[in-house]
Amino acid sequence: MKCPVCGMDCVQSAMDVLATLPTIFLPCPECNMRVLDKRAPPPSHEYALSCTCGKRFIDEVFTHMYVIMVEEGDLTASDPLIAVGTPLVHPGFVMDRPPFLPALSLLLLSPRVTKKTAERLVREVPELKGVVRTGNFTPGIANPDLHSVPRVYELLAGCDVRADVFPLRSGPLVIYKQQSSIHIEFPRPGYPKIRSVEQHVGTPPVKTFVDACSGVGTLGLSAACLGVPHVIMNDAWYASAYWAAYNLEVNRVYLKINRVKIYEQLEEMQTHPVTRDPIKIAETYGEQSVEIYQGDFRLLHTVLSPGLAPVTALDLFDKSDSAATEKIQREWKEKVGGDVFIP
Ligand SMILES: [Zn+2]
Ligand SMILES: [Zn+2]
Repeated sequence: MKCPVCGMDCVQSAMDVLATLPTIFLPCPECNMRVLDKRAPPPSHEYALSCTCGKRFIDEVFTHMYVIMVEEGDLTASDPLIAVGTPLVHPGFVMDRPPFLPALSLLLLSPRVTKKTAERLVREVPELKGVVRTGNFTPGIANPDLHSVPRVYELLAGCDVRADVFPLRSGPLVIYKQQSSIHIEFPRPGYPKIRSVEQHVGTPPVKTFVDACSGVGTLGLSAACLGVPHVIMNDAWYASAYWAAYNLEVNRVYLKINRVKIYEQLEEMQTHPVTRDPIKIAETYGEQSVEIYQGDFRLLHTVLSPGLAPVTALDLFDKSDSAATEKIQREWKEKVGGDVFIP
């Protein structure tokens, strides 16, 4: 599959990603492992090169990036190793030991890296797939009133498309995203949101499932993969709705569909980054029907057929205000009906 961000082949189908998983971050017998203190500067500015198997322990890769960032003046030699930034591996899944990284398996997120350095990092560090400059904010929609202009992080070099893998009883789900425009959500141990969807979908699966604030589609696609015949996903942020549609294609092996029709590509969608009235972005043809909308979930009822009585997941941005959350749930029940839950 062609990557919509860089045009290269950095996106694979779910089955191709899953085939790499058992061993992708494991060392070969020749691989070296030097564990460093991340809270201190590295002991010297020397680092090991990749093993003959093509992998290198993450701390060596970090030292390599640290040396470049010090040479370019983005860091000083007294900064700790951790100052290089936040590593996100591709594909991401829960690991019980630190990874040995193959080529193009790491995304670096850093508030301190400059564009010139980022370009050099991508050129010289083979494990690096892309470099993103972060800021002191969450990328995408930060305010549920949808009136503020969303901010995104900046892709400085390489490509920042990466996948996370989520365990599901019907088979692991592979979810791609462009990291600079999507907020980073580290799943909690045991994946409670996915478990909650499994529970509400039940067996046999419910007829209709709505993922009203879908993000890149993890929960709605979980419901579809669990066999729900009709799934509707929605997000007001263009990048979320786009990647939800894209992830439908990535995971189509799990679905009873003949065709995925995507109505808008990433560039067109950038012209309407936030929408209120729902726009249909994608839908499927076949035994299962999956629809994806970009819009305000409070207006989604205008495109839902009456009497649908779906099971709805409301994965709201801010669940801390319980009075507001209850009001939203009450309004949803009045307009749409069915069963509503907060995952
Ligand atoms: Zn790419
Ligand atoms: Zn090796």
